[in-house]
Amino acid sequence: MNAPPPFALLAELTHRCPLACPYCSNPLDLDRKADELSTDEWTRVFGQAAELGILQLHLSGGEPATRHDLTELVAAASEAGLYTNLITSGIGLDAGRLALLARAGLDHVQLSIQDVDAANADRVAGLAGSHRRKRAFAGLVSEGGLPLTINAVLHRGNLARMAAMVDEAIAMGARRIELAHAQYYGWAARNRDALMPDMADALAARDTVAALRDRTSHQITIDYVPPDHFARYPKPCMNGWGRQSLNVTPRGLVLPCHAAQTIPGLAFWSVRDYPLAAIWQESPAFGAFRGTDWMAEPCRSCDRREIDFGGCRCQAMALTGDPRNADPVCVLSPFHDRVEHLTTRQRSDAYVMRGRPSRQAERSAVADSTPDHATEEHDDAQHIAG
Ligand code: SF4
Ligand code: SF4
Repeated sequence: MNAPPPFALLAELTHRCPLACPYCSNPLDLDRKADELSTDEWTRVFGQAAELGILQLHLSGGEPATRHDLTELVAAASEAGLYTNLITSGIGLDAGRLALLARAGLDHVQLSIQDVDAANADRVAGLAGSHRRKRAFAGLVSEGGLPLTINAVLHRGNLARMAAMVDEAIAMGARRIELAHAQYYGWAARNRDALMPDMADALAARDTVAALRDRTSHQITIDYVPPDHFARYPKPCMNGWGRQSLNVTPRGLVLPCHAAQTIPGLAFWSVRDYPLAAIWQESPAFGAFRGTDWMAEPCRSCDRREIDFGGCRCQAMALTGDPRNADPVCVLSPFHDRVEHLTTRQRSDAYVMRGRPSRQAERSAVADSTPDHATEEHDDAQHIAG
């Protein structure tokens, strides 16, 4: 039986990035610039996505602005009829480049912020002056009339300023803010003990969001992604494996979710070898956990199996060693004690900045310090920022 068409495609245009966030969920081994899909290859993928029935295209990275052909890519996506959303740090985008993107058909901008406290934001981003530049970029987006969403990744070092982040987003002219607790995949998994909030703070955050929604309901929409380690049941990861969306990596592998490469034994087909429709319908990686037939107990006979689809396969892999297990976040999982162990163990005060192994910078998760430029990616940032 054919799977219904997907709704959204996340195009990871590049892994290059001017920032060095410790919560980065991109893989430890980043795709190299030389291996990235070309303009023509991405253009072909966007056309195939539209034919497949995809409506929304999210242009992400790394930092998509490091691609010098970003305007051409937006134009190609727009021509294919896709709603085009740019997920960016804003670094490397000035008024001229933004105007070109808007003219090419860009529909929406999602701008990430690290904090509202500029010194702390710069410290977490690993780039001096980055928060000031993000504020300026938000102003350009609003002046240009493009709808703006602010993304903020929540963790132990900024959770206390959630309300201020909502106020900042309103001041920036955003219509929506996504407050999402860090997901511990890729690089972020190395920093879990420094990033994960305490139980009391995690539970209090839920009430804070409810109060914020009451206070700001006429000004902004707040999307909240709770920290699933503290929930009774897992999140419906990706709204089900191979159900609604797919990711294309910088070198063209098509993944059912961002972290799927952490599951051993899955073979990911490339857009360089197969059309997107064939990958969606026939590739073994998409078929591996689609639907409910793959489930073992307790998911197989559980009433919630079509609500949360057994949670996250990558988390099941990471914490139990078998991706077919129930996500151990679930209180019904026989491995739930492993999540309890993570949520109650001693937190760390230091995290490792995203970067190449020989050039990582260790920072305190709580104390202020002036950011330096420790990674090769930063050198790139200096270049793209002109
Ligand atoms: S370093 Fe930060 S901005 Fe760059 S890709 Fe990772 S999370 Fe995104
Ligand atoms: S047992 Fe499986 S399907 Fe049931 S709630 Fe837990 S993770 Fe979800």
